[in-house]
Amino acid sequence: MSRAKPVVKHDRSQTDLVPAPSIDRPRSPTGAGVAGRDDQQHEARCRRCGVSCHLAIPVNGTPVTIPGLRCQFLERDGASWQCTVYADRFTRAPWCHHADVAGAQGFLAIDCPYVVAAGYKRGKVTVTPSSYDRIWPALLAELQLRGVPHWIHREALRLELTAREGGRWTLRPEGDELMPERDGDTG
Ligand code: SF4
Repeated sequence: MSRAKPVVKHDRSQTDLVPAPSIDRPRSPTGAGVAGRDDQQHEARCRRCGVSCHLAIPVNGTPVTIPGLRCQFLERDGASWQCTVYADRFTRAPWCHHADVAGAQGFLAIDCPYVVAAGYKRGKVTVTPSSYDRIWPALLAELQLRGVPHWIHREALRLELTAREGGRWTLRPEGDELMPERDGDTG
């Protein structure tokens, strides 16, 4: 059976272009009133994979994470990731969601411990490098068509775009979005 060509559908109603927190610890009471549990047992479930704080684009209905497209406050921590504003994230990063909220909306990794524990059947996936190579042209087209949120880590995305496409990339502000454009390309 032949595999259908991937179709990228961008649906902001189920968008993964809104990340959610589930990384780093300990957590201060700052965000405790925003939503969800805040106890140590709950926090300890986090494996600090960083998937929730990466953005994804639906491919045939499955949200696929984009390496380099992440919240501006997410940084590498060895083999893991950490939120650099975790204690204050709900004030510093109003786009951030508590894991309890994010899980139900499919903003966490599909195999995230919070998702599994809650019995949710949806979430972000990270595809193999060969699969990613195959769908990349469609993902790039979508990024350039729709833009990305202003609060992303801009340098990380520029580096990813240069690594895959070459050239120097600009993120042109347009409303609340940033439109990726390669210098020298014409519309
Ligand atoms: S502020 Fe950003 S990096 Fe921190 S938890 Fe929220 S989405 Fe993730």
